[in-house]
Amino acid sequence: MSFQSFGLAYDVPAYARHVLGVLEAAGYEAWVVGGWVRDALLSAPCHDVDLTTNALWQQTESALVAAGVEVHETGTAHGTVTAVFDGKPIEITTYRTEGSYSDHRHPDEVTFVRDVREDLARRDLTINAMAYHPERGLLDPFGGRDDLARGMVRAVGDPAKRFEEDALRVLRAVRFAARLGFRIEPATQAALVDWVAGLRDIAHERIGRELTGILRSGRVSWALMSQTPVMVEAIPELEACVGFDQQTPYHAYDVLEHTARVCRGVEEFTGGIASDELRWAALLHDIAKPRTFTMDENGRGHFYGHPKVGAQMARTIMHRLAIPRDLTRKVCALVRLHDRPTSMRKRSVYHEMMELEELCPGEARSLALQLTDLKRADAVSKTPSAASYAVELDRIEALQRRLIAGGVCLTTAELAVGGGDVIREMGVKPGPQIGVILRDLLRQVSNGMVPNERDALLDRLRQMSGV
Ligand code: ATP
Ligand code: MG
Repeated sequence: MSFQSFGLAYDVPAYARHVLGVLEAAGYEAWVVGGWVRDALLSAPCHDVDLTTNALWQQTESALVAAGVEVHETGTAHGTVTAVFDGKPIEITTYRTEGSYSDHRHPDEVTFVRDVREDLARRDLTINAMAYHPERGLLDPFGGRDDLARGMVRAVGDPAKRFEEDALRVLRAVRFAARLGFRIEPATQAALVDWVAGLRDIAHERIGRELTGILRSGRVSWALMSQTPVMVEAIPELEACVGFDQQTPYHAYDVLEHTARVCRGVEEFTGGIASDELRWAALLHDIAKPRTFTMDENGRGHFYGHPKVGAQMARTIMHRLAIPRDLTRKVCALVRLHDRPTSMRKRSVYHEMMELEELCPGEARSLALQLTDLKRADAVSKTPSAASYAVELDRIEALQRRLIAGGVCLTTAELAVGGGDVIREMGVKPGPQIGVILRDLLRQVSNGMVPNERDALLDRLRQMSGV
C-alpha cells in the first residue's frame, strides 16, 4: 500500500526511512509519530520526523551506531536520543507511558512499555496521537484522522484527566486550534476551562513557548475572544482588560476586544506574515490602559502615559515568559510609540525613526514601517471616525519608504563625515567634543538644514568653526 492510500500527501523522507529501517533490521519495531503524521495528512509542509520504538534508548543507540549513524543522547531520562543522518536530525523515543502527575506538570515516573498503542494513549490530542509506518500504514486508535478531516481538536481519553495531569495541554490545545483554524470539541473545551488554573503550576518559559506558537498562528485574536480564560491565565495582566469600558468617544469596544481587533488588523495589513515583534506589540499595546485610566469632570476616560507604562509592563511580561531580549526590546519600542501621532511632514517621520533607532539600535527602518502597521490596525479598531487616520498613515508610510530608499541617516556613524573630518576642519582635539559636534550635525541633517553629503557637511563644519 502506498502513502496516498492512507491519505498522506507525501511519503516518509528517505533519511528517516533509512533510520527506521536500521532499527527494524536490528529486530526492533519503530514508527513515525506525532507532528509529521499529522502534517502529512494535512498536506502541510513536511514536519521534522520523530520516531517511536520498542528499543530502549541504549539499544537504539547501539543499533544505529553499528550502522554508522551518528547518535546524540538528547533526553535519555525520557528515553530519547537524536540520530543524525544525511545531515538531518531525527528524535527517537522509546514507547512509554507516564505515571501519575502529582504536580500537574511532570510525570512522577516514565515507564517504558512494549506496545506502541500505549505510547499513543499518553499523547495529548487525537491529531497528535497517530503513528505511521511505510509498510504497516497508519495506526490511529483515537480517530485522529477523522478529527483532522472535520477540523476538530480533541483530547485523547478523558479530557479532564488529561488536563489535570499536565495543564500545559490546555494551552497546547488552544495553540493547535489556532494554528490549524480548528474548533475544540465540546467536552475538551469544557475540561480546558475547568482546569485552566493548573497553568499556574507550569514553568513560565513553557507558557511563553506556547504563547509564541499562538501568536505565530496569526489567530491570537480568536484566542483572546474565544479562549479568554486561557489567555488571561497565561498573561494575568490581560484580566483587567476584559470588559474594561474605555469611556471615550473614540472607542467602541472594551480593551480586550479592541486588542483582539488590533491583532487581527496587523495580520490583515501584513497579509498574515506579521513579525513576532508586531504580533507581540499588537497583543500588549494597550495592556496598561486599565492601570492608567482616569476620568475627567465630563465623565470622559483618559489613559495618560499608557504607552510608557505599557512598555514597562510588556518588558515585565516578556521577561517572565523568557522571550528573547532583543525581541522584547523591539516590542517595547513599538508599544512605547504606538500612540504618538506622526504628522505627514518629512521631519516628523524622520524624528520618529531616530527615536526608534535610539530605543533599538540598528532596527529603526524595519520598526518604523511596522509601527505604521500597528498604528493603522489601532486606528481601524477604534470608532469609524478614528479610521480616517489610517488614510493619513498611508501617506506617512510613503514618506517612510522614500526616506529609507534615499539612505536616511539615523546615527552619527551614518553621517558622510567622521571624527577625523571634525578634527581636520575645525581644529578640535580628539575627545568628547567630537561626539557633541557630530550629534549636532546629525540634528541639522534630520531637520533638513543640510543634506547628508560629504561636501555640504564639510562646508557646514567650517561654518560651525567660524572659519
Ligand atoms: P510542532 O512541533 O509542530 O508544534 P508537534 O506535534 O511536533 O508539533 P511537539 O510539542 O513537538 O508537537 O510534541 C511532539 C509530540 O509529543 C506531539 O505530537 C504529541 O504527540 C506529544 N506531546 C508533546 N507534548 C505533550 C504533552 N504535554 N502531553 C502529551 N503529549 C505531548
Ligand atoms: Mg515538534
